Amino acid sequence: MPYQYIAERDAKGHIIRPAGDYLEILAAGRMFNWASPYRRMCAKCRRPAMRGSESCWVHDPEYRKRRAQRAIESGDPSRIAKVPQRKHRAMMATIWRRDPWFNGRTVWLAPKLEEQFRRACADAALPVETVSPRTADNLRWQWRLYRLDENNWPGWELAVAKARRFEHRIGEAPPDWTYQPPGNAPPGVGSPVVVVTQKSPVRWRATQKRTPKMKAVLRKVAGPREGIASAEAIEQVEQFLFQHHKDLREVFQRLGKRADDPQVRAQVARAWASALCGEYAGYKALRLLQEE
Ligand SMILES: [Zn+2]
Repeated sequence: MPYQYIAERDAKGHIIRPAGDYLEILAAGRMFNWASPYRRMCAKCRRPAMRGSESCWVHDPEYRKRRAQRAIESGDPSRIAKVPQRKHRAMMATIWRRDPWFNGRTVWLAPKLEEQFRRACADAALPVETVSPRTADNLRWQWRLYRLDENNWPGWELAVAKARRFEHRIGEAPPDWTYQPPGNAPPGVGSPVVVVTQKSPVRWRATQKRTPKMKAVLRKVAGPREGIASAEAIEQVEQFLFQHHKDLREVFQRLGKRADDPQVRAQVARAWASALCGEYAGYKALRLLQEE
């Protein structure tokens, strides 16, 4: 009940004079830097502080530069990959502050997840095809948080309400704007767009077992690896490829002559099976095979 802390409002509802205890709460919050064991806040504003810094991303640009430099020097590929992602997100935030209808994205959801996300938006009476790209991108991150990371339904509700208010404020789309649906293929290797195909890795491993159907697919394409080429294994691979020949036709066309090599065929089968299980590594392997 926040209203008991407000002594006086004007006709429009703006606060003219907060009550005494409201000021006390503000003072206490400031004293503890708005902190809780779970949330450390920026020393200058109310955004969360970055790990290893006193301030948020707005108030400590020097720390962001140093962080990028350290990541590049570390040689750790997962840390290096974050550098262009952060840069891209900062750039999109700048563009979207001026023009929320600028078509762009910072996150890509796998087709199955994208469909679930689209339905969640429609259920919330905020169809993703009608909102600005800025809002759609925000909602994708929020939906991922709600559905895959934290299972936080109230958080999703709040995000939708906030998005609705924002859309109401910016009004209609410009006449030349059209909705650009995300493609079925993830953005290329090295793209700064974050790809989401499954739960966050640690929790996924802890909570999700492979279903019998996934196991069957993986067993089918287990061979032949380098050096192993039993007739039975080759036959299993061929059977699997035949089942999925429609989806893989383009891949084989691009492979050309190499498509006759049993080892390449097994690699394609393995990659496709893993992609079917929703693993990004599968998509990546397929793409790399085609580029060789
Ligand atoms: Zn700040």
